[in-house]
Amino acid sequence: MSLDISTLYLVAALVGAMLGGMLLFFGRQQKIPALNWWGAAYILGAISIGVWTLASALLPETLALALNAIGFVACGMVWSAARVFHGRKPNWVALPLGAVVWLVVIMCPPDETSMMRLTIGAGIVAAYAVLTANELWSERRKVMQRRWPALLVPVLHGFVLMLPILLGHALRASGSSFGASIWVPIFAFELVLYAVGTVFVIFMLVSDRAVQVHKTAASIDPLTGMFNRRGFSEATARVIEREANAGRPVTVLIFDIDHFKSINDRFGHAAGDEILKLFAIVVTNALRMTDLSGRIGGEEFAALLPCSIEEAVSAAERVREAFAASGIAVDDAPVDTTVSIGVAGGPPGTELEVLLAAADTALYQAKRGGRNRVEVAQEEPLSLEQGRRSSVVRPVPAVRQSSIMRPA
Ligand code: GH3
Ligand code: MG
Ligand code: MG
Repeated sequence: MSLDISTLYLVAALVGAMLGGMLLFFGRQQKIPALNWWGAAYILGAISIGVWTLASALLPETLALALNAIGFVACGMVWSAARVFHGRKPNWVALPLGAVVWLVVIMCPPDETSMMRLTIGAGIVAAYAVLTANELWSERRKVMQRRWPALLVPVLHGFVLMLPILLGHALRASGSSFGASIWVPIFAFELVLYAVGTVFVIFMLVSDRAVQVHKTAASIDPLTGMFNRRGFSEATARVIEREANAGRPVTVLIFDIDHFKSINDRFGHAAGDEILKLFAIVVTNALRMTDLSGRIGGEEFAALLPCSIEEAVSAAERVREAFAASGIAVDDAPVDTTVSIGVAGGPPGTELEVLLAAADTALYQAKRGGRNRVEVAQEEPLSLEQGRRSSVVRPVPAVRQSSIMRPA
C-alpha cells in the first residue's frame, strides 16, 4: 500500500485543528486558560503544516520557509500553556524568540546553510520541549505525580509535529523514498497516539481540577478563609513529619476567644462573625509565613509553629496584644476583644492530637487564671497512650485534664 505524503500531512493538520478546537471548547467551558493556550497552539501547528503542504510548492522558497515560523510560535505556546497551567504568566520574550531566530536563520544564503537550518530548527523545538518538561518537573515535586502525562503528550507531539517540516527539507533533497518508507507510517502512528493521549490529558486536567476544587472546599473554613479542622490537621501532619525528619521541635497554640457567647448575646451573631474574621486576620498577620493556622471550632483557633516554645510564646503574646488592641466597636459601643492562649511543645514527631490535648490543658489554665493570657503546658506530652497511662499511675486533678470541664 502506498501512502501519499501530502495527504497524510493534511490529515495531520486537520486532526491537529480539530483537537485544538476541542481543547479551546473545554478551556472555555471549564474556564481553564491553559487549555485555551494548548488549543490555540495546536490550531497554529495545524495551520503551519497545512500551509506548508498546500502552498510551499507555489511560494518562493524563502517565503515558504518563513511560514514555518508559525510552527515555532506554536511550540512556544505549548510551553506557555504549561506555565499558565501552573499559575505562571507566559514569557512574552521567549515565546516568539524561536520564530525570530528561525526567521534570522533563513535569511542566510541557502546552499551551505540547509543543514544548519535543519539543526537550528530542531534545536528550537527541543529547547521549547525542555522548557515545557522543566515546568512539568517543578510542578511534579509540588503537587500531583499524575500530572506528567499532561505535559508529556504535548511535548512528544511538538517533536513529531515539527519533525516532518524539518525533515521535509532533507527528504526533498534526498528524494521521497526514505520519507514514504519510514516517516509516513511513524507519523500516522503518532497521530493516533496523540489523539488518544490528548483526550486522556483533557480528561485528567478536568478531573484533577474538580478534585482540587472539592478538596479545597472540604479543608477551608468559609467564614474566615482559614483551614478548618480537617485542613489544619492535614497540613500540619506534613510539617510535623518534615520537622521531625530534621530533628526540630514544633509548638502548638490553641486560641479561645474570651466571653464570646456574651459578645454574640450583646451584639448579635453577625457581629460575632465579624469578630471571628477579625481574629483570623490578627492571627495570620502576627504569625510567620511558615506557621500554619486554622479555625478548629466555633471560636477556637489553632496554630502550629515550627519553632521552640519560647519563640511560640512570644508569637502568642503578639496575637493576644494585637487582638486586645483591635479597638473594635459595634454601634459605637466598644467590644472587649481578648483571647486566652494555650501553648504546648513536644519532642520531634509528636502527633498533632497529642500537642492539641496538652495545649488545651494550658488553655484551661489561662481561662482559670483570669483570661486574656498565655499559658504553657507544664509537661512535654509524648503520646496520647502515654498520657492516659501516666494519668492512671499518677492521677492529676480531674479538672486539669478535662477541657470539657472548662468554665464557661
Ligand atoms: P470563654 O471565655 O470561657 O471561652 O467563654 P465563651 O463565651 O467564649 O465560650 P463558650 O464556649 O461558652 O461560647 C462559645 C460561643 O461561640 C457559643 C457559640 O454560640 C459561639 N459560636 C460558635 N460558632 C460561632 C460562629 O460561627 N459565629 C458566631 N457568631 N458565634 C459562634
Ligand atoms: Mg470555646
Ligand atoms: Mg471562648
